[in-house]
Amino acid sequence: MTLTHERPPAVLWNTADGKQEFPIVRIFCVGRNYAAHAKEMGKDPDRDPPFFFTKFPESYVPSGDSIAYPPGTNNYHFEAELVVALSGGGKDIPVSDAHQHIAGYGVGLDMTRRDLQLTAREQGRPWDTGKNFERSAPLGALHLVSETGILNSGSIRLMVNGKVKQQADLRDLIWSVDEIISHLSQLYELRAGDIIMTGTPAGVGPVDPGDKILVEIDQLTDLEILVEKPE
Ligand code: MN
Repeated sequence: MTLTHERPPAVLWNTADGKQEFPIVRIFCVGRNYAAHAKEMGKDPDRDPPFFFTKFPESYVPSGDSIAYPPGTNNYHFEAELVVALSGGGKDIPVSDAHQHIAGYGVGLDMTRRDLQLTAREQGRPWDTGKNFERSAPLGALHLVSETGILNSGSIRLMVNGKVKQQADLRDLIWSVDEIISHLSQLYELRAGDIIMTGTPAGVGPVDPGDKILVEIDQLTDLEILVEKPE
Protein backbone atom coordinates (compact mmCIF):
# COMPACT_ATOMS: atom_id res chain seq x y z
CA MET A 1 0.00 0.00 0.00
CA THR A 2 0.98 3.61 -0.45
CA LEU A 3 0.62 5.95 2.47
CA THR A 4 -1.22 9.06 1.36
CA HIS A 5 -1.81 11.14 4.47
CA GLU A 6 0.10 14.37 4.93
CA ARG A 7 1.72 15.87 7.98
CA PRO A 8 -0.96 17.95 9.76
CA PRO A 9 -0.44 21.72 9.75
CA ALA A 10 1.14 23.36 12.80
CA VAL A 11 -1.35 24.43 15.46
CA LEU A 12 -1.01 28.22 15.66
CA TRP A 13 -2.22 30.37 18.55
CA ASN A 14 -2.67 34.00 17.48
CA THR A 15 -1.32 36.85 19.56
CA ALA A 16 -3.78 39.51 20.67
CA ASP A 17 -2.22 42.13 18.36
CA GLY A 18 -2.74 39.78 15.40
CA LYS A 19 0.90 40.15 14.38
CA GLN A 20 2.39 36.84 15.53
CA GLU A 21 1.55 33.18 15.85
CA PHE A 22 2.69 30.80 18.58
CA PRO A 23 3.03 27.21 17.34
CA ILE A 24 1.60 24.97 20.07
CA VAL A 25 3.82 21.90 20.49
CA ARG A 26 2.48 20.31 23.69
CA ILE A 27 -0.38 21.06 26.09
CA PHE A 28 0.20 20.28 29.77
CA CYS A 29 -2.58 20.67 32.33
CA VAL A 30 -2.46 20.88 36.12
CA GLY A 31 -5.01 18.95 38.17
CA ARG A 32 -6.62 20.52 41.26
CA ASN A 33 -4.88 23.85 41.80
CA TYR A 34 -7.49 25.92 43.63
CA ALA A 35 -8.46 24.72 47.14
CA ALA A 36 -12.21 25.29 46.69
CA HIS A 37 -12.23 23.25 43.47
CA ALA A 38 -10.28 20.40 45.10
CA LYS A 39 -12.96 20.32 47.82
CA GLU A 40 -15.84 20.31 45.31
CA MET A 41 -14.19 17.33 43.58
CA GLY A 42 -14.14 15.50 46.93
CA LYS A 43 -10.38 15.88 47.48
CA ASP A 44 -8.20 17.34 50.19
CA PRO A 45 -6.83 20.73 49.14
CA ASP A 46 -3.50 20.14 50.86
CA ARG A 47 -0.32 21.24 49.13
CA ASP A 48 0.41 17.80 47.76
CA PRO A 49 2.79 18.00 44.83
CA PRO A 50 0.96 19.16 41.69
CA PHE A 51 -0.02 16.49 39.18
CA PHE A 52 -0.30 16.78 35.44
CA PHE A 53 -2.11 15.43 32.40
CA THR A 54 -1.86 16.35 28.73
CA LYS A 55 -3.94 17.20 25.69
CA PHE A 56 -3.08 16.90 22.03
CA PRO A 57 -2.13 20.29 20.50
CA GLU A 58 -4.81 19.61 17.89
CA SER A 59 -7.47 19.97 20.62
CA TYR A 60 -6.95 23.77 20.39
CA VAL A 61 -9.99 25.84 19.40
CA PRO A 62 -9.80 29.62 18.83
CA SER A 63 -12.16 31.98 20.61
CA GLY A 64 -15.33 32.70 18.66
CA ASP A 65 -15.67 29.14 17.39
CA SER A 66 -18.49 26.73 18.11
CA ILE A 67 -17.93 23.27 19.57
CA ALA A 68 -20.26 20.38 18.86
CA TYR A 69 -21.29 18.56 22.04
CA PRO A 70 -18.73 15.71 22.10
CA PRO A 71 -19.53 12.00 21.85
CA GLY A 72 -19.30 9.57 24.75
CA THR A 73 -20.54 11.88 27.51
CA ASN A 74 -23.68 13.07 29.23
CA ASN A 75 -21.80 15.45 31.52
CA TYR A 76 -19.70 17.86 29.46
CA HIS A 77 -18.05 20.40 31.79
CA PHE A 78 -16.33 23.77 31.53
CA GLU A 79 -13.16 24.62 33.50
CA ALA A 80 -11.90 28.21 33.20
CA GLU A 81 -8.10 28.42 33.44
CA LEU A 82 -5.15 30.76 33.07
CA VAL A 83 -2.93 29.39 30.30
CA VAL A 84 0.81 30.06 30.17
CA ALA A 85 2.85 29.83 26.96
CA LEU A 86 6.56 29.02 27.19
CA SER A 87 9.26 30.72 25.11
CA GLY A 88 11.94 28.32 26.30
CA GLY A 89 12.51 25.75 28.98
CA GLY A 90 14.88 23.02 30.02
CA LYS A 91 15.11 20.53 32.85
CA ASP A 92 15.07 21.16 36.59
CA ILE A 93 14.23 24.85 36.32
CA PRO A 94 14.52 26.58 39.73
CA VAL A 95 11.35 28.40 40.84
CA SER A 96 13.33 31.65 40.84
CA ASP A 97 14.20 31.25 37.12
CA ALA A 98 10.83 30.00 35.90
CA HIS A 99 9.45 33.41 34.91
CA GLN A 100 12.23 33.78 32.31
CA HIS A 101 10.57 31.06 30.22
CA ILE A 102 7.12 32.65 30.03
CA ALA A 103 6.21 33.92 26.54
CA GLY A 104 2.75 35.08 27.52
CA TYR A 105 -0.70 34.26 28.78
CA GLY A 106 -4.17 33.50 27.53
CA VAL A 107 -7.61 32.60 28.80
CA GLY A 108 -8.37 28.91 28.41
CA LEU A 109 -11.01 26.25 28.88
CA ASP A 110 -10.12 22.72 29.94
CA MET A 111 -13.27 21.13 28.52
CA THR A 112 -13.93 17.83 30.25
CA ARG A 113 -16.08 14.75 29.80
CA ARG A 114 -16.66 14.65 33.57
CA ASP A 115 -18.45 11.31 33.62
CA LEU A 116 -15.55 9.61 31.84
CA GLN A 117 -12.96 11.38 34.02
CA LEU A 118 -14.68 10.38 37.28
CA THR A 119 -15.15 6.76 36.18
CA ALA A 120 -11.46 6.61 35.26
CA ARG A 121 -10.52 8.16 38.59
CA GLU A 122 -12.62 5.66 40.57
CA GLN A 123 -11.13 2.74 38.63
CA GLY A 124 -7.54 3.96 38.82
CA ARG A 125 -7.40 4.35 35.04
CA PRO A 126 -5.90 7.18 32.95
CA TRP A 127 -7.90 10.37 32.50
CA ASP A 128 -7.26 10.67 28.78
CA THR A 129 -10.73 10.03 27.41
CA GLY A 130 -12.21 12.45 29.94
CA LYS A 131 -9.75 15.23 29.24
CA ASN A 132 -7.96 14.82 25.91
CA PHE A 133 -10.35 14.77 22.97
CA GLU A 134 -11.11 16.83 19.90
CA ARG A 135 -11.74 20.53 20.54
CA SER A 136 -11.21 20.22 24.30
CA ALA A 137 -8.78 23.17 24.58
CA PRO A 138 -10.34 26.50 23.56
CA LEU A 139 -8.01 29.49 24.03
CA GLY A 140 -8.46 33.25 23.89
CA ALA A 141 -5.76 35.32 22.19
CA LEU A 142 -2.18 35.07 23.44
CA HIS A 143 -0.86 38.17 25.24
CA LEU A 144 2.90 38.51 25.36
CA VAL A 145 4.44 38.93 28.79
CA SER A 146 6.19 42.05 27.49
CA GLU A 147 2.73 43.59 27.36
CA THR A 148 1.11 42.15 30.51
CA GLY A 149 4.03 41.77 32.90
CA ILE A 150 4.05 38.71 35.15
CA LEU A 151 0.49 37.78 36.15
CA ASN A 152 0.30 36.75 39.81
CA SER A 153 -3.13 38.14 40.57
CA GLY A 154 -6.29 39.26 38.84
CA SER A 155 -9.88 38.18 38.54
CA ILE A 156 -10.78 34.97 36.68
CA ARG A 157 -14.46 34.55 35.85
CA LEU A 158 -16.62 32.25 33.76
CA MET A 159 -20.19 32.82 32.67
CA VAL A 160 -22.66 30.56 30.92
CA ASN A 161 -25.40 32.47 29.08
CA GLY A 162 -24.47 35.55 31.12
CA LYS A 163 -24.74 33.83 34.51
CA VAL A 164 -21.55 33.72 36.64
CA LYS A 165 -20.47 30.13 37.39
CA GLN A 166 -16.81 30.52 38.39
CA GLN A 167 -15.22 33.52 40.08
CA ALA A 168 -11.82 33.59 41.75
CA ASP A 169 -8.47 35.36 41.75
CA LEU A 170 -5.22 34.10 40.27
CA ARG A 171 -3.57 34.64 43.65
CA ASP A 172 -5.72 31.74 44.92
CA LEU A 173 -3.66 29.22 42.93
CA ILE A 174 -2.33 26.54 45.31
CA TRP A 175 0.81 26.23 43.14
CA SER A 176 1.99 29.43 41.49
CA VAL A 177 2.85 29.53 37.80
CA ASP A 178 6.57 29.61 38.65
CA GLU A 179 6.21 26.58 40.93
CA ILE A 180 4.24 24.70 38.27
CA ILE A 181 6.93 25.35 35.64
CA SER A 182 9.60 24.20 38.07
CA HIS A 183 7.73 20.99 39.01
CA LEU A 184 6.90 20.15 35.41
CA SER A 185 10.53 20.64 34.37
CA GLN A 186 11.49 17.86 36.77
CA LEU A 187 9.30 15.49 34.74
CA TYR A 188 9.73 16.79 31.17
CA GLU A 189 12.35 18.80 29.34
CA LEU A 190 10.30 21.89 28.66
CA ARG A 191 10.71 23.87 25.48
CA ALA A 192 9.35 26.75 23.45
CA GLY A 193 5.88 25.89 22.20
CA ASP A 194 4.78 24.15 25.37
CA ILE A 195 1.70 25.59 27.05
CA ILE A 196 0.37 24.93 30.54
CA MET A 197 -3.28 25.10 31.64
CA THR A 198 -2.89 26.02 35.30
CA GLY A 199 -6.04 24.57 36.88
CA THR A 200 -9.59 25.73 37.48
CA PRO A 201 -11.36 27.46 40.40
CA ALA A 202 -14.51 26.10 42.06
CA GLY A 203 -17.85 26.16 40.31
CA VAL A 204 -17.30 23.75 37.43
CA GLY A 205 -20.47 22.47 35.83
CA PRO A 206 -22.15 21.11 32.72
CA VAL A 207 -23.10 22.80 29.48
CA ASP A 208 -25.67 21.83 26.88
CA PRO A 209 -26.11 22.57 23.19
CA GLY A 210 -27.04 26.23 22.74
CA ASP A 211 -25.04 27.42 25.74
CA LYS A 212 -22.59 30.28 25.34
CA ILE A 213 -19.44 30.19 27.53
CA LEU A 214 -17.58 33.41 28.28
CA VAL A 215 -14.30 33.42 30.24
CA GLU A 216 -12.59 36.59 31.46
CA ILE A 217 -9.22 37.16 33.13
CA ASP A 218 -8.02 40.67 33.97
CA GLN A 219 -5.69 42.10 31.30
CA LEU A 220 -6.43 39.29 28.82
CA THR A 221 -8.81 39.03 25.87
CA ASP A 222 -12.08 37.23 26.64
CA LEU A 223 -12.70 33.71 25.41
CA GLU A 224 -16.11 33.00 23.90
CA ILE A 225 -17.35 29.58 22.84
CA LEU A 226 -20.76 28.37 21.68
CA VAL A 227 -21.77 24.77 22.36
CA GLU A 228 -23.69 23.22 19.52
CA LYS A 229 -25.68 20.05 18.92
CA PRO A 230 -23.70 16.82 18.56
CA GLU A 231 -22.39 16.22 15.04
MN1 MN B 1 -8.52 21.68 34.50
